[in-house]
Amino acid sequence: MPPTFQDILEEARLSARALLDYGEHLFNPTVRLGVTGLSRAGKTVFITALVHGLIRGGRFPVFEPYASGRIARARLEPQPDDAVPRFAYEDHVRALTEERRWPNSTVDISELRLVIDYQRQNGADRTLTLDIVDYPGEWLLDLPLLDKTYEQWSAESLALSREKPRAHLAAAWHAALAGLDAEGREDEQATLAAAKLFTDYLRACRDERFAMSLLPPGRFLMPGNLAGSPALTFAPLDVPADGTAPSGSLWAMMVRRYEAYKDIVVRPFFRDHFARLDRQIVLVDALSAFNSGPEALHDLEAALAGILDCFRVGRSSFLANLFRPRIDRILFAATKADHLHHQSHDRLEAVLRRAVASAAGRAEASGAAIDVVALAAVRATREAMVARGRDRLPSILGTPAPGETAGGEAFDGNTEVATFPGDLPADAGTLFGGEDAFRGLSSTGAGESDFRFLRFRPPALERDGDGEPVLPHIRLDRALQFLIGDRLQ
Ligand code: GDP
Repeated sequence: MPPTFQDILEEARLSARALLDYGEHLFNPTVRLGVTGLSRAGKTVFITALVHGLIRGGRFPVFEPYASGRIARARLEPQPDDAVPRFAYEDHVRALTEERRWPNSTVDISELRLVIDYQRQNGADRTLTLDIVDYPGEWLLDLPLLDKTYEQWSAESLALSREKPRAHLAAAWHAALAGLDAEGREDEQATLAAAKLFTDYLRACRDERFAMSLLPPGRFLMPGNLAGSPALTFAPLDVPADGTAPSGSLWAMMVRRYEAYKDIVVRPFFRDHFARLDRQIVLVDALSAFNSGPEALHDLEAALAGILDCFRVGRSSFLANLFRPRIDRILFAATKADHLHHQSHDRLEAVLRRAVASAAGRAEASGAAIDVVALAAVRATREAMVARGRDRLPSILGTPAPGETAGGEAFDGNTEVATFPGDLPADAGTLFGGEDAFRGLSSTGAGESDFRFLRFRPPALERDGDGEPVLPHIRLDRALQFLIGDRLQ
């Protein structure tokens, strides 16, 4: 396709921005770190714990510049982008450390600037600015739409919705779809109804029980200030992937709105945020996917491949000429590892590694280094060996959040319980194989109908030698080392 006027305009804007960023970077070394993951993956908790640890002094033995004492101090500064909300760090820390509850997660993009004074290995004093950009993973999964026509997207979305277990959830929408005449006159009411049923289907897929990950367009589930606008009121039609819409038809109306969605939502996100990132961490709630069974895990695998493809968007599309992906490190992190005994942490990493493996080669080819880690940004549990009959089982101790239930018992939020989370299989492959591998992976021991891990309250606070609060974590320092360790040499 020859570039359109819109494309050329876009190019000009992108390169102007890149120049501006480059100029600033010369005087003031800056790393823009993207933190993403699907809703509830753990972004808010991760950023809060990371910043708290750097400002107030965490325990980070594997984060070399910190452990060797070369980081003199870290402080917050006003974030540079006027149009982006600031990450509500203070509110989130207060929730975690004073109120002992998980912070409210946000559904929008936000940003925080952290300035780190450090000493280089050769002794010179330097400053690194770390701009942390928190954005919903759902937005990232929209990027591949830039390279797809409405007809291609429709065909793919329909094919996916006919697979198990989605087909069941899509029944009402499929029924309505069968009554639509794509080539008939455009019809606002029919479009509204189809968009609503399609959105209901997407939302049902997101239900905890199914934990499906691959659900573009992302803004349908998080509309924000675009709720009800035409750009969010469209749905797939059963039309040929290479067909062309007759003018004035329902189909043509859907195409128009699909293109509006790309213009209003996807392109600005790509240009203003994604294209400016240097490093990226993708948080993945793999344990929820395990709990939901092999389909959710395969779906997660497909979503991870989709995410990795995003780092190559711009290679095959109109942006190819000017946009060399700046992102040179991508870390995939399985969050909430504190729900497992440490014996299973390496196994959790292995599962994630396997899930990204097939797609990782492609992104690496584009110049980005990729790593995988299982972490808990805030560790809410302790470990203990608990006797059960003659056996001693590796168990975890934590305080279930108020209102959590297991085996018919409701918790008050003050009682600590020991649970045996079950082991992940030593061979990651078996998790992708069938239902059997999931047996025993229920933290409550309440039976197989209970697909959820217990939600624990954040931990009671620990204090370091100076009386400063310390948030316990698992492998957060390893994540830091990979993401910025090399920039603090
Ligand atoms: P976001 O939507 O990606 O910002 O997700 P949040 O950071 O708000 O996390 C969602 C929920 O996951 C929290 O309310 C906690 O219940 C849980 N969670 C997140 N991180 C951790 C962690 O490190 N350990 C534990 N035990 N739970 C976590």
